[in-house]
Amino acid sequence: MTLQFYCPLCGQPIEVDDRWASQQVGCPYCQKTVLAPAQSTYAPSAELPAASPVGGMAPASMPPPVPSRQNVVAIVSLVLAILSLACLIGSLAIMLPPLQEALGDTPTPEHVEAYQRQLQQEIQSGSPPPWAIPAGFLMLFGGAFWLSAGVCAIIGAIRPFGRGWAFGAMAAMLIGPLLVCFGGVVGS
Ligand SMILES: [Zn+2]
Repeated sequence: MTLQFYCPLCGQPIEVDDRWASQQVGCPYCQKTVLAPAQSTYAPSAELPAASPVGGMAPASMPPPVPSRQNVVAIVSLVLAILSLACLIGSLAIMLPPLQEALGDTPTPEHVEAYQRQLQQEIQSGSPPPWAIPAGFLMLFGGAFWLSAGVCAIIGAIRPFGRGWAFGAMAAMLIGPLLVCFGGVVGS
């Protein structure tokens, strides 16, 4: 048995197997999810004059509705991983030029140590160099995004579908520590 009705959204005549009565189905014309009625709301019958089909206007049969399965947590983990990378790169971009300027191209260990002490004193006395505050905040946000991305990636990877995003996030997360190490090497 089929159930015939007009799509409430686009008005096209559609039909489904009557086991989908009173359930959500996808309209083949407008692709929206609509509620199938309990009973047919129109019946193509002999009383109506049969129109000659002029291409694609006959009632369409629909496959059973397929729920969309998206691994949202895994997608979120990838977004967070990318955000954390953006923050870390931004932080390094702010930090490295003044550090290089202060230390020169070939800094000696004593020079670096003295500069670190000077920075610490400036930060403790409440007057850090202007670049230190945005760089520090970006580093902090980057770390927070990185940790959240890790939690979401683990949850996303446990799900049985759409795991690719979670693995992508994990790969992106590996770059973060490398960047910090790179910054540490260049900055010291
Ligand atoms: Zn429709």
